[in-house]
Amino acid sequence: MGIQVTELRHFIAGEFTSAGKTFDNISPVDGRLLATVCEADAATVDAAVKAARVALKGPWGSMSVQQHAALLHKVADGMEARFEEFVAAEVADTGRSLQQARTLDIARGIANFRTFADLAKTASTDLFQSTDGSAALNYTIRKPKGVVGIISPWNLPLLLLTWKLAPALACGNTVVAKPSEETPSSATLLAEVIRDAGIPAGVFNLVHGLGANSAGEFLSKHDGIDAITFTGESKTGSTIMKAVADGMKEVSFELGGKNAALVFADADFDAALAGVMRSSFTHAGQICLCSERVYVERAIFARFVSALKEKTEGMKIDYPDVPGVDMGPLISRAHRDKVLSYYRLAEQEGATVVTGGGILVFGDRRDAGAYVQPTIWTGLPDDARCLTEEIFGPVCHIAPFDDEQEVIARVNHSDYGLACAIWTGNLARAHRMAAQMEVGLVWVNTWYLRDLRTPFGGVKRSGLGREGGRHSLDFYSEIVNICIKL
Ligand code: NAD
Repeated sequence: MGIQVTELRHFIAGEFTSAGKTFDNISPVDGRLLATVCEADAATVDAAVKAARVALKGPWGSMSVQQHAALLHKVADGMEARFEEFVAAEVADTGRSLQQARTLDIARGIANFRTFADLAKTASTDLFQSTDGSAALNYTIRKPKGVVGIISPWNLPLLLLTWKLAPALACGNTVVAKPSEETPSSATLLAEVIRDAGIPAGVFNLVHGLGANSAGEFLSKHDGIDAITFTGESKTGSTIMKAVADGMKEVSFELGGKNAALVFADADFDAALAGVMRSSFTHAGQICLCSERVYVERAIFARFVSALKEKTEGMKIDYPDVPGVDMGPLISRAHRDKVLSYYRLAEQEGATVVTGGGILVFGDRRDAGAYVQPTIWTGLPDDARCLTEEIFGPVCHIAPFDDEQEVIARVNHSDYGLACAIWTGNLARAHRMAAQMEVGLVWVNTWYLRDLRTPFGGVKRSGLGREGGRHSLDFYSEIVNICIKL
């Protein structure tokens, strides 16, 4: 399984270009070299931003919303036509299963283009008729923001890039995107699809590279960018915020999490168990929404821990193309070192290791990859570093709780506030609790069930602003109020 790519290039002003040094793209499955990737220097990023500025005034700038939307549907058609190539690119870079790439990553990437094309076409704007006797009509219009810089992470590469790119284009902006250095392949393929769909040159530009002192930093500091939309770690978000402060660029940030799952004794036990398995171990725990903190009502605590242990030990950890595989590797050896450092720290902090806690040894080429054991802990105090810092691996800590207010306080006692999942058979309790959680997203008796029209984002160190539905249209538009005296 894998794509035969030897060099991944930037895409600027409608052309692929190989300016700059190169870096290696390594498979997390078996450590082999997948591709060499061009690394944009400051001049290359500058060329991309200039191309995007020029394109704002080109044919793209005079097209109607309907014409933009039609082109975005053509991009989605082009992705469908090359679906298996996208799957192969994403699987090679991330090591996730074919099944997940097909049903989540690539399917959602396509849905992002279709959804935001249709939302932009049907969006309304405000109109206020004065009510104080001043005889005026106020209405709003939307204009593109200009050149949008997109900086995206490795965990859901195509899904998260298109989550920002599709609404940015639907609102008439032009874009310079920098995907993660760990996962450059699907974005490069997308550039081909965008070109072939007939989107004018310079509307979408792609620069590859790293973060600090590389393409990410050059892009976020560039004066020609009008806004930055970023998904990644909270500390990178604060670095980017400082970089854009002098130029007063608008930002939209989707950042880290330390999410909780709460399981009440009145929940459907099997559904909650399956839900917590998913929320802790999907994509080896490398989804920002994953729950690393699980709180279970004391009456069912022991039963839940033992059932989760049994299910976790039954997980099929394998190559991405093995049917029924439950978990693949982490994204890289460097990330594996980070996760393993928390596995060691947990023991120092007094955790009971219910299962896992180390690396996996297969006796085949996967031993050169980045696999770790899925891990469950109990017994840590709430202020342990393993319970307060984002680990971003296949790991959860399970703690017992006794009542609602106690568990709300414990969950909210966090620097992060992205998401939480509540498992209960009592809907009145679910409503009551959901409103008290200090997060941007609450799921009740489910997890990561998304409707793309709904707001997505976090509070505290988990993000700034909301994307999704009209919230994306608002961020990617400049909204102008026009007041007419009647
Ligand atoms: P990261 O912050 O290390 O990197 C993200 C992107 O930022 C990459 O493209 C990287 O090259 C770039 N970057 C790094 N340093 C930079 C700098 N100084 N200036 C400009 N760009 C820079 O994050 P990651 O490790 O790729 O992704 C994992 C993180 O993303 C986790 O914290 C996860 O929770 C978070 N995440 C959040 C959401 C959300 O919606 N809230 C979604 C997915 C991932």
